[in-house]
Amino acid sequence: MKEDHVNLVIHGHEPILSEVIVQVANTQEMIDYAKEKGARGIQLSGICCTANELLQRHGVPLCGTFLQQELAIITGACDAMVVDIQCIMQNVANVANCFHTKLITTHPIAKMEQENVIHIEFDEHHAVEDATKIVKMAIDNFANRSSEVMIPRQKAPLVAGFGVESVKYHLGGSFRGDYYTLNDNIINGRIRGIGGVVGCNNARTRHNEGHVEIVKELIKNDVIVLTTGCNAIACAMAGLLTPESAAVYCGDGLAEVCETVGIPPVLHVGSCVDNSRILLAATEVVKAGGLGNDISDLPVAGSAPEWMSEKAISIGHYFVVSGVYTVFGVTFPTAGAPVFQRYLFKGLEELYGGMWDFESDPIKHAWKMINHIDKKRAALGIDKARERVLMDFAARQALEA
Ligand code: SF4
Repeated sequence: MKEDHVNLVIHGHEPILSEVIVQVANTQEMIDYAKEKGARGIQLSGICCTANELLQRHGVPLCGTFLQQELAIITGACDAMVVDIQCIMQNVANVANCFHTKLITTHPIAKMEQENVIHIEFDEHHAVEDATKIVKMAIDNFANRSSEVMIPRQKAPLVAGFGVESVKYHLGGSFRGDYYTLNDNIINGRIRGIGGVVGCNNARTRHNEGHVEIVKELIKNDVIVLTTGCNAIACAMAGLLTPESAAVYCGDGLAEVCETVGIPPVLHVGSCVDNSRILLAATEVVKAGGLGNDISDLPVAGSAPEWMSEKAISIGHYFVVSGVYTVFGVTFPTAGAPVFQRYLFKGLEELYGGMWDFESDPIKHAWKMINHIDKKRAALGIDKARERVLMDFAARQALEA
């Protein structure tokens, strides 16, 4: 957010309207209109997973996690917040009522009852008109700021936008991009394994603590991390999404790979509805060869350190039945049903190769993942460093014969 700009915060999960808002806000007509009203321009920023989508596709900066949505308003600089569905706290309407912020709902299933909320139902046939109305509303509201503006000065640079194809490109360029480079570094032990760490912020924990501690413990032990959702935003705040962070936080093997390839040790692959990208990447690793025949053979583990949304349970189960050992933090809903929990934590492994687990302590949580990765490395026979044999010409000839 910027004090001298019109600040329009986009929050929610549906990318279509926000895509059009980005287009409209960047037109010269809107920028000139904002200048006419005394602002230096229009600053878009994002909360929750729309933020991650817009960051991936358009470089729109993140302004906060799920638990920071009200804080964006109390900066006094949020001229409009547009929300759609999921993870929208109804109390944002009461907070907006204490400031000048226009709160705009856009989805029929997520209207709010408070009188200060404006509802502009998004209709894709009139997307540009709807987006223009919203952007203009934010610009017209710029002059109405009444309270002191307090935008935190802390900023963190980040690299985002990784996907299945771009990881391949980073590993070998357009000429010989291939996941085998990754597999090779897993086999030679520089990379111990892969962690998919995703999901929400939970109000029962200290903000971001579980996310950041788990990810730091994983990369310290040479586990490369793929992240999405609010975990990605937490990692960004902690400075873990830059290539330079590898030298500071990673074990020697992972640091060496990140330095060679120029990638961060934590790869931001999108919003919480993009978790399928992590499984697609795992499929590419299987296809590249040398690490078994199924996702369940890979030295891979999943985690949602601070989950809170029901959606996290379905995504977690998608990981488990795809063969991934998946650990949740904070609480687990079957804790009072030991027979069912045993089925989830042990029985499913026989059926799918993946299973659930729970651990609230972040360091123990990370070590459960690392121990599972080590178990898979041992099963693949890549748990011990192989002796390097230097071969002379005669030895090579003997091999060929
Ligand atoms: S990760 Fe969880 S809290 Fe964050 S936007 Fe997605 S569902 Fe909401």
